[in-house]
Amino acid sequence: MPFTLKPLPYDRTALEPHMSARTLEFHHGKHHRKYVENLNELIAGKTLERASLETIIRKTFGSKKNEKIFNNAAQVWNHDFFWQSMKPGGGGKPTGELAERIEESFGDFDSFKEEFLEAGKTQFGSGWAWLIVDGRKLKVIKTADAENPLVLKKTALLACDVWEHAYYLDYQNRRSDMIKAFLERLADWDFAAENLAAAGSSVRRRESGVNLGHASRS
Ligand code: FE
Repeated sequence: MPFTLKPLPYDRTALEPHMSARTLEFHHGKHHRKYVENLNELIAGKTLERASLETIIRKTFGSKKNEKIFNNAAQVWNHDFFWQSMKPGGGGKPTGELAERIEESFGDFDSFKEEFLEAGKTQFGSGWAWLIVDGRKLKVIKTADAENPLVLKKTALLACDVWEHAYYLDYQNRRSDMIKAFLERLADWDFAAENLAAAGSSVRRRESGVNLGHASRS
């Protein structure tokens, strides 16, 4: 079964004025779609054709021969994750367990925001800024091109695309302004909280010795 482009979780105009319909038309409708199409072409007739997206990403990471497959597969996953990292009327502050863990890990929410902005700003060239969970601690990381927390064996909570195609139509060269808008107006903290809760329950299952079945395979 070939991969399909997942629809955006909201209308193309839903993130305006912070991210325009035109940006989503190109970013989701052209860039993201192309990654899906390239991936399907690259894996056609190969064993990987029957694997899950996550398995393809893990198996091709670091392989020169499979670099194109990795890049396209990871970019499909990263964009699916990015669209879910935003919502209309997002931003503001997280609450509950996520808010506590951010305070524990960064001191306070503003320090987290500064670190996230700095990571996105200083990613040289194309890449991503992420909030991840690494054991008990939450961390901000940046990755280049298509690389993602999955291949670093970490759990992603929230992602911001800092490739030029993510912001040039709306912000031209002002990448920082897009990252600020992402944090202050778009970030979906409920999505991040769900990812944190899911990561916590898988740690608890591992600690209690429950077999995770397919989820533990890589
Ligand atoms: Fe992108």
